[in-house]
Amino acid sequence: MSESRPVRAARGSTLTAKSWQTEGPLRMLMNNLDPEVAEHPESLVVYGGTGKAARNWEAYDAIVRTLTTLEKDETLLVQSGKPVGVFRTHEWAPRVLIANSNLVGDWATWPEFRRLEALGLTMYGQMTAGSWIYIGTQGILQGTYETFAAVAAKRFGGTLAGTLTLTGGAGGMGGAQPLAVTMNDGAVLIVDVDESRLLRRAEHGYLDELAPTLDDAVARVLAAKNEKRALSVGVVGNAATVFAELLERRIPIDIVTDQTSAHDPLAYLPEGVTLADWHAYAAAKPEEFTERARASMAKQVTAMVGFQDAGAEVFDYGNSIRAEAELGGCARAFDFPGFVPAYIRPLFAEGKGPFRWVALSGDPADIAATDKAIVELFPGDEHLRRWITKAQDTVHFEGLPARICWLGYQERHRAGLKFNEMVASGELSAPIVIGRDHLDSGSVASPYRETEDMLDGSDAIADWPLLNALLNTASGATWVSIHHGGGVGIGRSIHAGQVIVADGTPLAAEKIARVLTNDPGTGVMRHVDAGYERAAEVARERGLRVPMWES
Ligand code: NAD
Repeated sequence: MSESRPVRAARGSTLTAKSWQTEGPLRMLMNNLDPEVAEHPESLVVYGGTGKAARNWEAYDAIVRTLTTLEKDETLLVQSGKPVGVFRTHEWAPRVLIANSNLVGDWATWPEFRRLEALGLTMYGQMTAGSWIYIGTQGILQGTYETFAAVAAKRFGGTLAGTLTLTGGAGGMGGAQPLAVTMNDGAVLIVDVDESRLLRRAEHGYLDELAPTLDDAVARVLAAKNEKRALSVGVVGNAATVFAELLERRIPIDIVTDQTSAHDPLAYLPEGVTLADWHAYAAAKPEEFTERARASMAKQVTAMVGFQDAGAEVFDYGNSIRAEAELGGCARAFDFPGFVPAYIRPLFAEGKGPFRWVALSGDPADIAATDKAIVELFPGDEHLRRWITKAQDTVHFEGLPARICWLGYQERHRAGLKFNEMVASGELSAPIVIGRDHLDSGSVASPYRETEDMLDGSDAIADWPLLNALLNTASGATWVSIHHGGGVGIGRSIHAGQVIVADGTPLAAEKIARVLTNDPGTGVMRHVDAGYERAAEVARERGLRVPMWES
């Protein structure tokens, strides 16, 4: 009953739960664990090191059982992947409220978390793993594409053609990097210790080629760089070793970053440890393993600083590698910036962030119809049109068909209402689920990532994500979550998520209008409060009330 088994969400328009408001979270939980979507579904790990969708298989079964029978005026409470209660609420209330991995400040360390996890009391929810809105590697693709486009704009005249990028980590999120670089016309070399991860990216069209040796890989990417040809090449190796070696060999690399699972030292393979020994060693001697992982990260980051000294564009890609490397003895770890202050903050100031939706029907035609609708809704947005066209050409759906794009305050609710109308009219064959990443403007406190280097120094203030979650709950979201430790690891972030089901009903339209306005609105509010001029302009132009401005 409670053993690992392949999971796949139902497709089509027949309900297995009592309403679409519970069918939505049910299918999305299952979709997170679909072997096509999850990195390690047998252990309920969706992505991001050990980011899980449910605590264990028994808890998974209980969540499924409860969602299948939940009434439209009841709310299920999930504590770190385990369903713990059902309460009578009302139709406007979320159907599911989730809290993942939260620990009291002084206890918020990996060793304490692991101790509690080993006792079966908690789980690591990452961001969209434990909040059931992961959509496979596409979820990160658009943000990664945007980031590399911003790098191109900042340093390389608007294109990566003729540049070479070096990066590490081809996992669930990191696997988007090669395609994001080639979509910007660049050449990229990606290093991963695990060949199966690289093969999976190649299979899904995110990676062009695997090279058998580092020399061969370097020759291929240098040829592409010289010919200004887009090409991605993967090579098996330890990033600490390979980065240092490429620096030593003075390979002309223009951009360097990394997306190994550095946020969790047990999910980063130290030099000198084999893939086969990895997990048993990490479980048996976590402290020794952590020390060795941090030493390797220090070596990798030292090489990254070396590339920066040599003139390359270098940035931390949101995996906390600088902080871990500093703990491993790299004194200059913070010499290069995180990607948010370097490229993304201006978008966050407008409430912009990764907005995503999923066709519960399982029919790709539903996503094609929404793609068309989005482009028609925002006719002046050439950037958006270009992204949707590229995504249609390149993105291989994993699990339920889904789409992502960045929309801001006073934009998202228009898209949501349009989708709801399309469900109501029968233009779409089943409801649409609309959510977002926690890599977001208003719902995250994460001083090494989303809130690094805030203008007013408020990086570590975590009231903002809590207000975001409370507001989404009050506004009618279908499920709302509060997490700790996503992206950058335990002790380093607090963040919130919301998802809403567009089931075509007038009630859903009312909720969508509020949730998809208020949720990005908190991003504008947060940046107004921190003193960002652009956020103040957006608030004035688009009518966000700021009490401290009123007399
Ligand atoms: P993942 O666990 O699915 O993949 C990590 C990959 O790193 C694995 O394939 C693993 O084999 C590889 N790896 C581990 N140690 C290595 C080493 N020493 N050398 C080379 N490869 C090594 O994780 P993911 O979902 O891809 O996330 C990667 C990181 O990015 C995480 O820290 C995550 O929190 C962070 N992240 C960043 C963003 C962002 O927007 N920038 C978003 C989500 C996640």
